Amino acid sequence: MVVMKFGGTSVGDGERILRAARIVVCEATTGGTPVVVVSAMEGVTDALIRAARAAAHHKSDLLHRTIAELYSRHEGAARKVAAPGERGTLLTEVRALVREFENLCSAIQVLGELTPRGLDAVASLGERLSVRLLATAVRREGAPARAIEATGLIVTNDRHGAASPLLEPTRKRTRAVLLPLLEEGVTPVVTGFIGATAEGAITTLGRGGSDFTAAILGYCLDVEEVWIWTDVDGVMTADPRIVPEARTLPELSYAEAAELSYFGAKVIHPKTILPAVERKIPIRIKNTFNPDGPSTLIVDQPRNNGALVKAITSIKGLSLLTVEGRGMLGVPGIAAKLFSAVAEQGISVLMISQSSSEQSICFVIRDEETEGALRALEEAFAPELAGRNVDRIWAERGVAIVAAVGKGMKEVPGIAAKLFGALGREGINVISIAQGSSEYNVSLVVKEGEVDQAVRAIHREFALGG
Ligand code: ADP
Ligand code: ASP
Ligand code: MG
Repeated sequence: MVVMKFGGTSVGDGERILRAARIVVCEATTGGTPVVVVSAMEGVTDALIRAARAAAHHKSDLLHRTIAELYSRHEGAARKVAAPGERGTLLTEVRALVREFENLCSAIQVLGELTPRGLDAVASLGERLSVRLLATAVRREGAPARAIEATGLIVTNDRHGAASPLLEPTRKRTRAVLLPLLEEGVTPVVTGFIGATAEGAITTLGRGGSDFTAAILGYCLDVEEVWIWTDVDGVMTADPRIVPEARTLPELSYAEAAELSYFGAKVIHPKTILPAVERKIPIRIKNTFNPDGPSTLIVDQPRNNGALVKAITSIKGLSLLTVEGRGMLGVPGIAAKLFSAVAEQGISVLMISQSSSEQSICFVIRDEETEGALRALEEAFAPELAGRNVDRIWAERGVAIVAAVGKGMKEVPGIAAKLFGALGREGINVISIAQGSSEYNVSLVVKEGEVDQAVRAIHREFALGG
């Protein structure tokens, strides 16, 4: 049994949905037992969220445009993917779901308020639409299939927008619903990204979370492998949109893949790794548009390819905060106070570095959280600011992290020097540096405007393009 997950680009229009369906049918009719997970059509989740926000702000123009687009895109795809006998039913289902979106937005508009719970109800509609399209397409291509909403499988906590699955009840429900279907030879096509609380409120697992859904189902069903079908040839030495000569990494360890995804390689969602590691399920990343081309296998013990650095990643849209003061020297508890003040705001810290003189602590957060973090710190350190133990708290906005990742970096000296050298020759200033505790990565903070150039320079320095 394998889980096959298709991302948004892979189901971006009717033609692509049929292509994905053929991949599924090929597996189902050649002795395999696929469980399919699917994302919303490319761009749909963004559009839904934008429209819900527009509704809350009474921006009716944008809302109406989005409604019209949702109808036309999904109706167009429905006409393309359905066999003539199924077209009417599929169109009715698609229209009912877009209608549900209209009703939700009307309610948001009346209330003038968008709650996290309301936003999840809206955001879930993309996957609730796409499963129906793909299940119909699979039937058309010749294998029995059924659309399944993961709200009946994945039980989560109520952290709307970033819900966590409760693995035991999820395992029970998933097996109870999917195993009988599989025994009948029906391929389940399950919504990615969504779940529900024990009380039945729809939740979402975080943006890009369909990969996570695939790993959760793989864990619950004890599958042999999880396959992530996307729009690139696996995990590459860098984002090929930034570095055209980037190459596919044939094998990676779970730890390396986790590090890469955490530091910006969008090709796999960071949370995907955990359920897979738990049961040592291999994850394969493959290209829907080049199914016989190179791919990546993520396993516990990959073959060593001899490279010190395997890949370069980057994250944009960040802000670097600094707490500085000569009086901080040797004062215990400053860091604890700092990070608890930030954590209380629900802000997560991506990277930390402390100067050796203990006169300043820097850390990186998402740019949109800058104001909240500054306020929290000024409040928490009010006594120290008044007593001059802390002189200054400030933010440098518009920064990015560039990270070099690879297990081979462990115990090899001079990596940081090589990174600095590569950037120095390009005239790129390094604002801050940190080494991950796993020693699988070194990350640097640079100006956002220079980060793509930095990624290319480091990629070249380590000869990752061959
Ligand atoms: P999907 O919709 O299939 O989930 P995503 O857009 O989430 O696909 O992820 C695939 C994208 O990830 C690629 O198109 C690529 O631009 C980006 N990406 C970033 N870093 C990497 C990397 N190291 N290797 C491959 N792709 C990467
Ligand atoms: N459709 C969701 C998103 O855009 C989940 C996913 O694509 O993985 O975030
Ligand atoms: Mg994705």
